[in-house]
Amino acid sequence: MSFLSGLKIRGKLISITLITSVIGLLLAGIGLIIYDKKTTQQYMATELSVIAQIIADRSTAAMAFEDKTLARENLSALRARKSIVSACIYNNSSELFATYMNGKLDSPCPAKPSQQGSNFDQNYLHLFQPILIEDDQVGTVYIRSDLRDIDTRLYNFAIAVTVVIILAAILGFLFSSVLQKIITGPLSKLVNTAKDVSEKKDYSVRVEKESNDELGLLVDAFNEMLHTTEKQNLAIQESRDQLEVRVEERTKELHVAMDKAEEANRAKSTFLANMSHEIRTPMNAIIGFADLLQREDGMTERQIQYSKFIKESGDHLTSLVNDILDIAKIEAGQMKLKNVDFALQGLAEELATMFQLKCEEKHLDWKIDYSHGNCLVKGDEIKLRQVLINLLGNALKFTDSGAISFKISEVKKNYFQFEVADTGPGIPVESQEKIFEHFEQDKEGIDKGGTGLGLAISKKFITTMGGELKLESTVGKGTRFYFTLNLPTITINQPSSSNVQKDRRSSKLTAHVKPLVVDDNLANRVLLNNILLEIGIESIEAVNGKDGIEQIRQHKPNIVFMDIQMPVMDGITAIRKLKEKNELNNIKMVAVSAAAFVHQQEKYLEEGFHYIITKPFDAEAIYNCLETLFGIPLE
Ligand code: ADP
Repeated sequence: MSFLSGLKIRGKLISITLITSVIGLLLAGIGLIIYDKKTTQQYMATELSVIAQIIADRSTAAMAFEDKTLARENLSALRARKSIVSACIYNNSSELFATYMNGKLDSPCPAKPSQQGSNFDQNYLHLFQPILIEDDQVGTVYIRSDLRDIDTRLYNFAIAVTVVIILAAILGFLFSSVLQKIITGPLSKLVNTAKDVSEKKDYSVRVEKESNDELGLLVDAFNEMLHTTEKQNLAIQESRDQLEVRVEERTKELHVAMDKAEEANRAKSTFLANMSHEIRTPMNAIIGFADLLQREDGMTERQIQYSKFIKESGDHLTSLVNDILDIAKIEAGQMKLKNVDFALQGLAEELATMFQLKCEEKHLDWKIDYSHGNCLVKGDEIKLRQVLINLLGNALKFTDSGAISFKISEVKKNYFQFEVADTGPGIPVESQEKIFEHFEQDKEGIDKGGTGLGLAISKKFITTMGGELKLESTVGKGTRFYFTLNLPTITINQPSSSNVQKDRRSSKLTAHVKPLVVDDNLANRVLLNNILLEIGIESIEAVNGKDGIEQIRQHKPNIVFMDIQMPVMDGITAIRKLKEKNELNNIKMVAVSAAAFVHQQEKYLEEGFHYIITKPFDAEAIYNCLETLFGIPLE
């Protein structure tokens, strides 16, 4: 039945109807034919036995008188029946007495008569009828008939049955084609609706019920399913809408919270910037004047010592402010790498100068190995120096006996490992992670002072530079901090700027420099004037932006050191006003600011400043500025 599986339901229904009815009709036809054959045979046998009886009755006289001619005449009466092909009469000794033959036959009669009665073979009906005279058998009549009547009848019957089957099949096809719609109609509707639903996702449609049979039940079940799905969809839509509203509300709340957080962060940054400004401005004067004092003629040894203390304390305070600012910069995402070419050897020597003496003062051994660091590399020298100073500073601070060692080695091409080890108290395992967090100190740290910021900043710096700050420490034995950085080596081996630290206080600038110093803070004005005087440059002064503009108009300076935060008129307003009036021609504008954030410094450059000096500044910063802006080195 696999051929049915490929058909549509309509085709299946028609095929099933046709096959069933044709098989039914065929079976009925075959049954009828068999039945008809049997009854026809019976009828033929009966009819032939009546004829044989008549012949037997008529032949009694011929048998009694042994009159063969009469017997033959009697048999020849059978001529009227075409189907009787032969006949004969036997005498009571079972010998042939008379014979009749219609057509040519090899043996018209059997040699001997057999039992009374009829029998059929494949082609003929054979019949034996006794000839009786008063119950005494005097002979036997034999008649043979062919079966042509039966064959003709069966042939006609078969044709009739075939015609009936064909007609029935045609009618069956026509009827089932029409009637199959009773079943396929509702099914098609179901299929179309299901298609519509899946394409348009419209679950509100329903299929019309046409009957109460199984198809009706199917339609009911389908509609029920649509109803349930529609209800579920509505519920989902409703909860989605609610969710959207909730998400919107939460997003709004989040925005408000973020705005608040950003506002708070801005306030914090502003506070830090202001605080740093406030601290750096007086610190500038303290450090600068302490520096100048040391060089004053006629100073006693003691006075020089005191001024050194003032400078050292100022430097310490400045580095503290710088640490806090570094953390603020890291948190504000303001920290940027400044890649420069520098000599590793120069950096190592500089650090050695800083720490060797201090180690000696504490009776510690100082070991340094930079044999593999004798090359020029590209990287953020300032941050690397800051990290190493912090690590060496800690080693020095926490170690009371033994040694401090510093090593630079090239672990593979362009990868340098920096290592600071000490024989100090060591750091317990449980504190080894914690100490890298802001303001976290172990017992040693709390005892010896400090802020707990150094390692947090160092770790962040190293991570930003692509390395990882690691530590190995055993309590009672010492600590080793180390990290590896990728610092591409530069082929031209020149000493970096950091190596050429020369004291230029007695130098002279060959260019004609006429500076104006604009600052509301007298100490800072005096400091800057003195630094300039040391290289033979006299400057004019102004106390705020407004005053500065007037001085510029009057004295036509070629460089202006402009403080940013000032009463009456600040530095930014002043430069804007000068720009408006086109009065900036040929004047180098230098912003002298305590602002430490990169974005603030970028803003100054956008406003038109050519150079930025950050407070607290030293003489070197001022000389570098002059060299850069006038393009002529100090002699
Ligand atoms: P600070 O040195 O200002 O306390 P750091 O962040 O540099 O802050 O160090 C954090 C803590 O880690 C220190 O307080 C100290 O407890 C511990 N520490 C750092 N370096 C060493 C060291 N070389 N030996 C022992 N302890 C150290």
